[in-house]
Amino acid sequence: MKKQKAVITNNQGSENEVDVEVIHLTTKSRVIKSIQLCFGLLLMALVCVFIPVFHFVLVPTLIILAIVLPFLNLKNDKALTAQKIKCPKCQNQVAFKTKRFQQEVKTFCPECRSQLKLFLKA
Ligand SMILES: [Zn+2]
Repeated sequence: MKKQKAVITNNQGSENEVDVEVIHLTTKSRVIKSIQLCFGLLLMALVCVFIPVFHFVLVPTLIILAIVLPFLNLKNDKALTAQKIKCPKCQNQVAFKTKRFQQEVKTFCPECRSQLKLFLKA
């Protein structure tokens, strides 16, 4: 875990510089997570085979997701740990959940209802 400088902005252009805790994920951990995701979705597809009627929709959907989502997940090389960050507009503490990301993390401020984007500074 590493403290890193980041910029938080909202859709009206106010921005703040904040310190955030970020984990840089290794290639090995990303590949393992993607394989787990793929097999998890395939297992769900296998279970859905036994659900009458709904399996016509669920099985193909889960198989497509099992192919697409692991590749999208593989690109996320950083993870934001769960933490509270000040909203640049209303100065309220906004809870960010633990999330893997590539460039930015988006969330909503529950107080002023503006969309917040968090970017890491180089
Ligand atoms: Zn706010």
